[in-house]
Amino acid sequence: MFGKILIANRGEIACRVIRTARKLGVRTVAVYSDADARALHVEMADEAVHIGPSPIGESYLRGDKIVAATLATGAEAIHPGYGFLSENPDFVDQVTAAGLVFIGPSAASIRAMGLKDAAKRLMETAGVPVVPGYHGEAQEIVLLASKAREIGYPVLIKARAGGGGKGMRRVDHPDDFSEALSGARREAKAAFGDDRVLVEKYVDKPRHIEVQVFGDNFGNAVHLFERDCSAQRRHQKVIEEAPAPGMTPALRKAMTEAAVKAAKAINYSGAGTIEFIVDASEGLKADRFWFMEMNTRLQVEHPVTEVVTGVDLVEWQLRVASGEKLPKTQGEIALSGHAFEARLYAEDAAKGFLPATGMLHHLKFPDAPPEGAAMRIETGVRAGDAISPFYDPMIAKLVVHGKDRTTALGALRDALTRTEVAGSTVNTAFLAALAADADFAAGDVDTGLIGRHQEALTAIPAPSDETIAAAALAATDAGAPGAAADPWSTLSGYAHFHLLARRIRLRHGEENILARVSARPDGRFQVALEAPHDAVNTHDLRTMPHAARWPGHVTVFEGAVGYTFAVPDPLAKADEAGAASGSLRAPMPGLVKLVRAAAGDAVIKGQPLLILEAMKMEHMIAAPHDGVIAEIAAEGAQVSDGTVLVRFAEDGQG
Ligand code: ADP
Repeated sequence: MFGKILIANRGEIACRVIRTARKLGVRTVAVYSDADARALHVEMADEAVHIGPSPIGESYLRGDKIVAATLATGAEAIHPGYGFLSENPDFVDQVTAAGLVFIGPSAASIRAMGLKDAAKRLMETAGVPVVPGYHGEAQEIVLLASKAREIGYPVLIKARAGGGGKGMRRVDHPDDFSEALSGARREAKAAFGDDRVLVEKYVDKPRHIEVQVFGDNFGNAVHLFERDCSAQRRHQKVIEEAPAPGMTPALRKAMTEAAVKAAKAINYSGAGTIEFIVDASEGLKADRFWFMEMNTRLQVEHPVTEVVTGVDLVEWQLRVASGEKLPKTQGEIALSGHAFEARLYAEDAAKGFLPATGMLHHLKFPDAPPEGAAMRIETGVRAGDAISPFYDPMIAKLVVHGKDRTTALGALRDALTRTEVAGSTVNTAFLAALAADADFAAGDVDTGLIGRHQEALTAIPAPSDETIAAAALAATDAGAPGAAADPWSTLSGYAHFHLLARRIRLRHGEENILARVSARPDGRFQVALEAPHDAVNTHDLRTMPHAARWPGHVTVFEGAVGYTFAVPDPLAKADEAGAASGSLRAPMPGLVKLVRAAAGDAVIKGQPLLILEAMKMEHMIAAPHDGVIAEIAAEGAQVSDGTVLVRFAEDGQG
């Protein structure tokens, strides 16, 4: 076994690899970019090496820097994780040339499977069923169009260098072929620098079922059963499971045999996945599955296989790469129970799954597994970390394991409702809606399921009055008894609270809501909402939904939905207070980031004056009224609590 390895990745997968390495007594080296200087994987590793600026092209994709870091730290091998350099055969050559071990397959195996068309030709020769279609070299449009006609519509145009669903177009009618082809080519050219395509039969009621394979350097190859990844949006996996629902012994036998055959055909060593597309239009039939592609790395969804087989795939990767034989024979690998993995993302499901960024001000995962099930949370972030635009916005993978599918699915729903994220838009509610979808629950999944039910799956009901009341309460100190003093609080002191009836302004989407929170002599609170909401009397804080306060906002958790309300910035309060004395003061220590006005300027109410960065958030400070600026803080100034940021000339109108 290795003494020390370097992990050429970040986020949850880097953390995941470090955990197993530690278990095996292997020391670890992390690499990081500027943005990741304080990331969890850096903290977890025994050592860490800075490899460059935040963009991946200048850091995580810099094979030369990674090899240099490995040599400099005395590590013997490199684990690539997934993505980044994991399927780059030139990188593997670089690693080997430096006398290091790549924890993964050979460069030759990766090359053999790197291009979809060549891989399909190879698999055809090896006797593995491939999707009917054209995967030849010639690319003339007339030829491709006639091949499409031969195959029969609908067809799927795919970039041969494709990945992540890019450069893929479904075409239903010959008239649309040439336009779809140009679209696919454009996208493929931009994403992969290669615009060559293949044309496939579009499989009816397609299910994506893949087989985990593992090979060693002694010619052994085994499978670890299948995963179903049919729950997809825009060809990207959302919830994966193992085993596949409704799998028949005959189809499993045929698929796993084909997968092992595929691995052996390229002398595969390490963890790999053979992806198949299955025609489920008449149930699962042993002769209706076809090879799509092979992923020559560890997959994002590998944990579902681990929990149903009890195998630590990363451990196997390290053992095999260090020269050991496969730890188990085929006969020793068995399936137990059912597992799901849900990918928690910072994204806006309702806006076409638009990736989101943000600061994870509040991040809470279930602290115990749901009853009767096991749970694993794979994450690379903690509360206070940022989801930056530089990397994949995945926050965590929630993995559950139960004795059967129903138990596991119940556990997944439960885990999702106990997951709380505030500070960024997340897909928790969408995942929970999918986990509760009747077809999904029945195991009647195909790759079109999410698309067909998209509206229902992404609709978020308006917050109830109870939720709004909880938000109003949380926006005062009363909602967070025992919470650390929060400088953004609008309440001057908890001790005096019972004397006050506070008016709280909240904003949810486009709506402004006014609430009145008052304390009663018995210590309980009453929240009254202005019309059109009903007055709500809240008597017991303990029955209120969970809420998280973060700068300028409150998020209330109701089931798997996090309702976020903007709470008028206390800076606005400072504005009001300051307006009387002709000045605006910093409500807390911060950095003046940008100044947009100068002394002597006449400004109008609402005009942005400067940006204050405080508590890792940027806050725009606007003029509270029309007036003339007498003095304004300098850009780059570090200000403390109460520092005057802007002073208005005497003639400013209050
Ligand atoms: P990528 O490498 O870009 O992810 P894949 O070849 O793995 O592309 O296909 C991605 C997804 O597209 C599959 O999981 C499946 O949902 C769908 N798909 C691929 N090929 C077909 C096909 N021939 N018919 C129907 N759906 C397909």
